[in-house]
Amino acid sequence: MTDFTELAIAGRIATPEDSDWDQARAAWNLAADQRPEAVVFAESGDDVAATVRFAAERGLKVATQGTGHGAAPLAPLEGTVLLKTERMRGIDVDPEGRIARLEAGALSLELGEAAGAHGMCSLPGSSPDVGVVGYTLGGGLSWLGRRYGFACNRVAAIELVTAEGEARTVDAENDSDLFWAMRGGGGGYAVVTALRVNLLPIAEVYAGALVFPAEVGAEAVRAYRDWAAGVPDEVSSVVRFLTPPPLPDVPEPIRGRPRLTIDGACIGGQAEGEATIAPLREIGETIMDTFAWMPTAGLSRIHMDPENPVPGIGEGMTVSDLPDEAIDAFVSVAGSDSGSPLLLSELRHLGGALGRRAENGGALSHLDAGFVMYSVGLPMTPELGEAIPAHLKRIEQTMSPWRADGHYYNFVEGPCDVDVILPPDVCARLAEVKRRWDPDGRVVANHAVSLGEV
Ligand SMILES: Cc1cc2nc3c(=O)[nH]c(=O)nc-3n(C[C@H](O)[C@H](O)[C@H](O)COP(=O)(O)OP(=O)(O)OC[C@H]3O[C@@H](n4cnc5c(N)ncnc54)[C@H](O)[C@@H]3O)c2cc1C
Repeated sequence: MTDFTELAIAGRIATPEDSDWDQARAAWNLAADQRPEAVVFAESGDDVAATVRFAAERGLKVATQGTGHGAAPLAPLEGTVLLKTERMRGIDVDPEGRIARLEAGALSLELGEAAGAHGMCSLPGSSPDVGVVGYTLGGGLSWLGRRYGFACNRVAAIELVTAEGEARTVDAENDSDLFWAMRGGGGGYAVVTALRVNLLPIAEVYAGALVFPAEVGAEAVRAYRDWAAGVPDEVSSVVRFLTPPPLPDVPEPIRGRPRLTIDGACIGGQAEGEATIAPLREIGETIMDTFAWMPTAGLSRIHMDPENPVPGIGEGMTVSDLPDEAIDAFVSVAGSDSGSPLLLSELRHLGGALGRRAENGGALSHLDAGFVMYSVGLPMTPELGEAIPAHLKRIEQTMSPWRADGHYYNFVEGPCDVDVILPPDVCARLAEVKRRWDPDGRVVANHAVSLGEV
């Protein structure tokens, strides 16, 4: 038994003896049953370094967690210290240098608001309370992504603690192999204490969601596909079938009923954005239309993602393109007559800068696919806990004829190694980085990095 009283840090250490242990070990995704040896709530980089050294001396592993949005694929965590960074939330913006330094626990909305106060933005995705670090290490698919690529490729430097417990700052010039790996290859190489990310001088965008009855079905998805094929890189969007639970904090017009939504963001002027979205408004009568000229900080709310912990079982897959048969297949498993027990099934439009090799990019330079599909259900009852994985399998099988090569790290929620997600040449390089920086496999990520052939 490890004596955690020997770990001297400013933050808190929770162990199974504590009365609030279940709360301490919980992840944002409440379906993840994490059973580590202890949970450390670090207050600073020094706490992180002390924790890693303590673990190293005792043969324990370390798994780092910002929020637990990506906790589903993480192992049960036997023999592992769960290092939570939720108390490390500082954000400093340098408006002249157009750069933000954020501590490891900062949330997407917090970064959006801090950058927005200077008329700038980062590359936010659809969740306000996702951790910027986890989101970015796995790629970072943003509402501005088709114009600016994956968020990981706009990181200027990473402050981290190595598996040996040593603090370092890595960038394109210093320990560039580690810098490369952690931009899209996940967090399995070292513990990030802070990120420095380049900001964009964009204060406002035209963005929002159109909500239709789900019965608009395949015809609406086809209209969306045709529209998406013609939009410039300045426009990023998602189409999805959504059946939110009948809960009071869900907006009344979408509560408890199957809907089809199209969300998106347009960079440029308001009039330009209105003209771009106009054809989508012709699809049918909307139940809700939230498109508006808005501060970029509002982007992480247009998708109406939950802002409190929920249980979720989800899975993603990349799709090469969407011929009519693919849309019919998608509607047959996700549409209003599909019998789907899921909360949502969606198709996020890729292409643009997301599909082009990023200059000096990281392990996820680009993704060669037309769309990334993601589906998730809320296992609120044991019956749903069985029905959801079965339906996710059905969706995967139904859509497999249109599967693209490769996966998108952040939307892979089943337990699998990085090798299954990223291309073989990238994985061979990642294994080299792992061997150099963490040969004992101390740093545990939600998708494990193999040490490869020596
Ligand atoms: C509702 C919802 C909406 C989402 N929307 C998007 C989206 O629009 N675009 C997108 O790209 N993804 C999206 N995701 C996926 C999300 O980006 C991933 O789940 C990501 O892993 C979450 O990061 P986190 O830090 O919040 O989660 P965590 O579970 O805390 O972390 C995930 C992994 O990141 C690594 N990690 C986290 N912090 C550190 C650290 N300090 N040092 C080293 N490694 C670390 C670890 O390997 C950890 O296992 C969404 C997920 C959810 C649940």
